[in-house]
Amino acid sequence: MARVYNFSAGPSVLPESVLEKAAKELSDYPGSGQSVMEMSHRSPEYQAIIDSAEALLRELMNIPDNYKVLFLQGGASAQFAMVPLNLFGIATAADFVNTGTWSKKAISEAKRYGTARVVATSEDKKFSYIPVLDSSMFDPAAAYVHITTNNTIEGTRFTQLPETGKVPLVADMSSNILSEVYDVSKFGIIYAGAQKNIAPAGVTVVIVRDDLIGHALPITPTMFNYKVHADEKSMYNTPPCWCIYIAKLVFEWLRERGGVAAMQQMNVRKAALLYEYLDNSKVFKGTAVTEFRSLMNVPFTSPGEETDKKFVKEAAAAGFVNLKGHRSVGGMRASIYNAMPEQGVAKLVDFMKKFETALAH
Ligand SMILES: *Cc1c(COP(=O)(O)O)cnc(C)c1O
Repeated sequence: MARVYNFSAGPSVLPESVLEKAAKELSDYPGSGQSVMEMSHRSPEYQAIIDSAEALLRELMNIPDNYKVLFLQGGASAQFAMVPLNLFGIATAADFVNTGTWSKKAISEAKRYGTARVVATSEDKKFSYIPVLDSSMFDPAAAYVHITTNNTIEGTRFTQLPETGKVPLVADMSSNILSEVYDVSKFGIIYAGAQKNIAPAGVTVVIVRDDLIGHALPITPTMFNYKVHADEKSMYNTPPCWCIYIAKLVFEWLRERGGVAAMQQMNVRKAALLYEYLDNSKVFKGTAVTEFRSLMNVPFTSPGEETDKKFVKEAAAAGFVNLKGHRSVGGMRASIYNAMPEQGVAKLVDFMKKFETALAH
């Protein structure tokens, strides 16, 4: 069957050339006579793979030397606990901006280990916007300030980072890492589950500033301690070897395409195609406030549940899959991560136009 255009929010589309390369090397990683899946993680071949993945990510994101890059397991959800467990040794309170479902989960997990103060929320309007933030809102004694840079479910994104002074800014960047240029030095910690913009599910990237390592609460499990993973260079135990290998291939693919800045330009064009159509459509409507619209996840509605169902079904039959909205918000959602080609979005818009015309008749 021909490849479909996959608008899944995660796990999501990967570059076709990466899949092909992985297929080619599946049973014989060049020169090794083994699959990466079968290789010892302590072998020189595998060491070269993980080293190269880290070096490429450092290059793509321009990560300063005083940050460690960790390849962990447990998803972004494990980081909801790992961040407070590691930083509440500095102070037992943190400030959170509540911008959606994932922020809420980060907040409730942090509450198990200390004080999680919500300084601002957009829950009053179904998280359709990002609240205005002012440096005076943050507690200067907090261990950290936590934000979700891109809200995967609600389709919003921070267009400006909050000014937190000396308090480290911690970001859940799961759904927009590598999609736009960020100055890593503005953050204490960046974490991201890989299955949106990096690799298959199974690896979580954590970028952590050196001075934030080594403050874990005594109850912290060994596997949840940043210091353990930093000291062992992500090899304390068996890392998710295959996922890290695919991440390396995706990083190479990104570099070939001009890196994050070039990807950002393409992502802006892709999102504009869709939003422009939604703004002019008589059937479909975007749900996020214009100013804060995500470049990665575009939620939208039709006049009713029946039309939603009809659209999702007909779109899938035409080769545009996984457009059903998140169960908590309904409607539709098109996730247009880095690996979604511009042509995929253009063709989806054409399909939506045709659907709209047919509906009017
Ligand atoms: C998908 C997602 C998560 C959850 O990631 P897991 O790897 O499944 O734990 C957390 N935060 C954001 C912003 C996400 O998009």
